[in-house]
Amino acid sequence: MNMTIHATATTNHFINLENEYGAHNYHPLPVVLNKGKGVHVWDVEGKKYYDFLSGYSAVNQGHCHPKIIAALLEQAQKLTLTSRAFHSDKLGEYEKFITTYFGYDKVLPMNTGVEAVETAMKLCRKWAYEIKGLPKNMAKIIVCDNNFHGRTLGVISYSTDPSSTKGFGPFLPGFQNIPFNDTAALEKAFQDKNVAAFLFEPIQGEAGVVVPDACYYTKVKKLCKQYNVLMVADEIQTGLCRTGNLLAICAEGVKADILILGKALSGGVLPVSAVLCNNEIMMTIKPGEHGSTYGGNPLACAVAIAALSVLKDEKMAENAQVMGQLFRDGLHKIESPFIKIIRGKGLLNAIVIEHKNKDAAWDLCMEMKINGLLAKPTHGDKIRFAPPLLITATEVADAVNIIHKSLHILA
Ligand code: PLP
Repeated sequence: MNMTIHATATTNHFINLENEYGAHNYHPLPVVLNKGKGVHVWDVEGKKYYDFLSGYSAVNQGHCHPKIIAALLEQAQKLTLTSRAFHSDKLGEYEKFITTYFGYDKVLPMNTGVEAVETAMKLCRKWAYEIKGLPKNMAKIIVCDNNFHGRTLGVISYSTDPSSTKGFGPFLPGFQNIPFNDTAALEKAFQDKNVAAFLFEPIQGEAGVVVPDACYYTKVKKLCKQYNVLMVADEIQTGLCRTGNLLAICAEGVKADILILGKALSGGVLPVSAVLCNNEIMMTIKPGEHGSTYGGNPLACAVAIAALSVLKDEKMAENAQVMGQLFRDGLHKIESPFIKIIRGKGLLNAIVIEHKNKDAAWDLCMEMKINGLLAKPTHGDKIRFAPPLLITATEVADAVNIIHKSLHILA
């Protein structure tokens, strides 16, 4: 009993510190973590959990993967930052590695996901003026309703989520929203001669893991080619084996003109993001026109090489595909009246909760926490399930049991 009171006091202490001194821009579950290994994390009270969020799909390779941490430590003792004012012996090595890995001519390294999205938007506009020949300041980028591409002013300018935009105007012009998974709407939008690009998430993650129809990527690719519009895939959440393929669009053998990566590019160790494309697009940006102090730093380069190697060496795409199917099969077998929809691909999955109580998804997450599994609701009634990709069949079965057992809280 005393132990419990002490432990709760420890948790409360850390939560109170954050509440008092940090901005209140998140609403976290009341759990304070201080250790992670593979698919597990531990709280300050010593309780062990399955991590079914994986840092919003940044920790695909598992917490503190030994090979990634070894690369981090080795490089950290040599050189961490040069800025791009000078060359480093790691940047070129990394650039060769990642462009070969994904089959593009060039990479532009950044840090966070949203910076990479901003970079891609700038590339689209430059290409539109210099190569496609659009009139000055007229370039338009087509985006999807319910998109999530990050939090900068530029990127929220085309968000359709009021909680992202309310109170932050005025917004950046030059975007048009169309429904996701609607190639007829896309073709209609392409009738405007000033369209430079179509930016989309192959599976809408934040919207609650919305998977498009089969052949969507193939049709998007065909239309983009036909209308000379850049196909820009934001694979920040869906990429790097999360959905059972190296990239989500690889499921249809499709290659985007511009590929945006982040999150698991460092295995959850550092903010590392990247934009990949061919010379015709990338070479439109000249020295002095874009950059970032930390982008392409030697530490990030070493970590990203290790993180990408681990994904292939440990066959994480294959495991995500098999374990994802097992997980969804397990959820279907529960047959709960409170689970309205089960959807996803690979290990990017979600359930939609049906309940008269609007806080039901939150309540279920709290109960799963008590039972040893961490997940977080998104948009009220949806819960995303995205564990690290090295999860085993036994662990999947255990996790499904925890979810099953926790559902009693909604009865
Ligand atoms: N794009 C997608 C598809 C995302 O899921 C996210 C983050 O969740 C971002 C962009 C933004 O990434 P970051 O939070 O690293 O800026």
